[in-house]
Amino acid sequence: MMSWSYSPDLAVTSLPALIAQRMAARDAPFIDDGQGRSLDFADYWQLSGRFASALSASGVGAGDRVAVQVDKSIEAMALFHAVMRCGGVLLPLNTAYTIAELDYFIGDAEPKVVVCAPAVAAALTAVADRHGCRAVMTLDAAGNGTLFEAAALAPPMPAECRCQWDDLAAILYTSGTTGRSKGAMLTHGNLASNALALGELWQFTAADVLLHALPIYHTHGLFTATNTVLVTGGAMIFLARFDAEEVMAQLPRATAMMGVPTFYTRLLQHPALGRDSARHVRLFVSGSAPLLAETHREFERRTGHAILERYGMTETNMNTSNPYDGERRPGTVGLPLPGVQLRITEAATGRPLPRGETGMIEVTGPNVFKGYWRLPEKTAEEHRADGYFITGDLGMIDGDGYVSIVGRGKDLIISGGFNVYPKEVESEIDALPGVVETAVFGVPHPDFGEAVTAALVLKRPDVGPDEQAVLAALEGRLAKFKRPKRVIVVESLPRNAMGKVQKNVLRQTYAKLYT
Ligand code: AMP
Repeated sequence: MMSWSYSPDLAVTSLPALIAQRMAARDAPFIDDGQGRSLDFADYWQLSGRFASALSASGVGAGDRVAVQVDKSIEAMALFHAVMRCGGVLLPLNTAYTIAELDYFIGDAEPKVVVCAPAVAAALTAVADRHGCRAVMTLDAAGNGTLFEAAALAPPMPAECRCQWDDLAAILYTSGTTGRSKGAMLTHGNLASNALALGELWQFTAADVLLHALPIYHTHGLFTATNTVLVTGGAMIFLARFDAEEVMAQLPRATAMMGVPTFYTRLLQHPALGRDSARHVRLFVSGSAPLLAETHREFERRTGHAILERYGMTETNMNTSNPYDGERRPGTVGLPLPGVQLRITEAATGRPLPRGETGMIEVTGPNVFKGYWRLPEKTAEEHRADGYFITGDLGMIDGDGYVSIVGRGKDLIISGGFNVYPKEVESEIDALPGVVETAVFGVPHPDFGEAVTAALVLKRPDVGPDEQAVLAALEGRLAKFKRPKRVIVVESLPRNAMGKVQKNVLRQTYAKLYT
């Protein structure tokens, strides 16, 4: 919907063409699965070219959607590139989605082809037929299936697609904790501009080997991690999933790792994590959910590495990053990326706020998506008249330009008419001895409208602190309206696959706490 268009001074006009250009000189292996199987880039690109031929033969052309729900593998990644190489639009789907959920996505996006695991092919064929898809193909975790068979017979793809930067490369459905999830339309220019910015900022080169243990249906593992490597000529160790033991075993071969905060908390539980195991690594990046300042400090104490935290979202790719050279401030997400403009506004009016004040984070730049698929009104609602995208995240910018996130706007608690930012309360409770982590959320309350409520994970529940001790400790530290009305000790916080705490689940679980 935005009028912005990407026109860098490059000889190419699509993400796959940029990748082919940047990877052409690579002669060392490009991708390996950590299990002894590796491909150099030429073989990988040829495999993806054959997949592209097979998709073209099934009728996929410019602008056609291809829905893919498969396990992570080298072939899956090659398929994603194949979709873009024949001008198609990739629709990656979380492997946890059920047939009923897939029915919604397929009905909404109307893909021409669906690629799935063999186990769900029969059920998905019924769904695909109902929505007029041309073909259903299979790809299993080992890279076999009907897509592979069709590709084996197909000619290597002769030419790259003729996409322009402003054409769609992918539709990613947002995780949508309220209502139906929306399809964020990302262009080749959105993805390429972000990859080039990150590659430069994080100083990636052909000498880098990225340890990749993220899922590939979400923007972090799908685009941020892979594209940064692919536009800088490097290599990846492509693990099927995060397993602390496996990551520790592969770490000596890696120069960089990108992960969600839970990766780091799990690595910290591994007794072998130390300076020696991370000796070869030059950069650890964290994002997709807040990294506790405590985790940051503990990781630095153990390994000597200050984790670099950055902030992004499905709709915008990456927006901010702590510096590569310079201070990486725990609890902040750093500074806007080159080319990205970020401001803080009063949510209701859009009035820009001065530094130091908390409000809505809004962004604009080449990274920001083209709009929600077939939802022009929703797209307009979430943009200001001057083109800024309203992220839904609340935050502030400090005197040095570092951005901090205080939570999602919808997680803001209004108790007795006062705004309470969960992060502020969480940080106070997290700082108490014996506390591992906290989630603060609002629950309906007859007097206050919403009551500040805390769920607390303890190092040792038998030792405490208990509810009374937490409340007593907060007395001199937080204004009364910010202090929780109840503190509930839980075994663990509910999280989604990207490590995000699901406050909607907590709100639901404790909905009747005060009534
Ligand atoms: P998703 O679209 O699934 O990637 O979710 C994006 C949301 O994750 C953002 O809008 C933020 O609320 C949150 N997020 C991403 N990175 C960070 C971070 N470094 N710190 C805090 N929240 C983050």
